[in-house]
Amino acid sequence: MVEFQEGQQTRRGIPIMDFSHEMVVLGRDGQLHTLRGNARERVRTLPTPYEPATILEMRSNLQKEFGRDFEVLSTQHFLVVQPRGRGKRWPEMFEQSHRAFVNYMSRRGVKIRRGRFPMVAVVMPDESAMYSELKRMEVNAKRVAGIYALESNRVITHDGGHLRYIGATLRHEAAHQSAYNYNVHSRVVVTPRWVTEGIGQMFEPEAMVSGQSGLKIRERVNLDSLTVIRREFGSDLSSDFSDAIRDLIGSDQMFVNSKTTSKAYAVAWSMMFYMAEREPQAFSKVLAGTNRRGTYQPYDRFARLSDFERWVGTDIDQFASKVGWFLKSL
Ligand SMILES: [Zn+2]
Repeated sequence: MVEFQEGQQTRRGIPIMDFSHEMVVLGRDGQLHTLRGNARERVRTLPTPYEPATILEMRSNLQKEFGRDFEVLSTQHFLVVQPRGRGKRWPEMFEQSHRAFVNYMSRRGVKIRRGRFPMVAVVMPDESAMYSELKRMEVNAKRVAGIYALESNRVITHDGGHLRYIGATLRHEAAHQSAYNYNVHSRVVVTPRWVTEGIGQMFEPEAMVSGQSGLKIRERVNLDSLTVIRREFGSDLSSDFSDAIRDLIGSDQMFVNSKTTSKAYAVAWSMMFYMAEREPQAFSKVLAGTNRRGTYQPYDRFARLSDFERWVGTDIDQFASKVGWFLKSL
């Protein structure tokens, strides 16, 4: 175990990656810390083995961190930090989303393994309090309803709006948290964004978590994504659709460019949803294959494309036509 300084705090954790200029440390509470410069030089090695924090320890640290206006509720899989007196609504919702996620994935043969840390969900009283919290965490967020932050491993949302409005985003972010904590993805592996965001988009529809996900496929469709695809590619899906799929498999650029971001999310959804519903073996191979790669190992275009074709067992044009037929059947 090592000891390091972060702000005024002394923390402990285990090094995940050790470069001369930078060290990445997994804290005892499951947060990832990147230490550079001075902080990197002042890291001290301790003669004790790494041990994750206990739930009681994490709970009491969260209570200290957020202060007496908040309460920390412990459920089977979560520690939920919320303003005092908000009852069980939030904890139940996080539990329900998570159970639905595990259920959906297991049925498709995806290997789920419980993580070492309880998942932390933070509910701020309103939108502006949420933004101050995100600023404190140095997280740059564009979504108003909430986010999952990879480094802190927390979902942060707020209680100031209607759940009906923020629900889809919240289910998306909760799916990221479940995926990263239950070994569907790894937080220290470079995962192509179409894989992670495809999963996030898949869990936006309410039917995915309402316990009805075994019913009609139509109800599991992400209508926002489907609408974007029809707008971008027309209802009979132009050949651009195949190019978009190839772009997304090869690189994350379509997500990065703000002009193509919504297209990227939508096409990523269609790829993952198609596989989950029609080719679960390919679906679980893509997830297992991307998860198995080495810690922070770079992933170039050529490797991304050839891995994909191997996992899915067809070339990309053929895959794109199958996704296209599937979308038309919806
Ligand atoms: Zn996302």
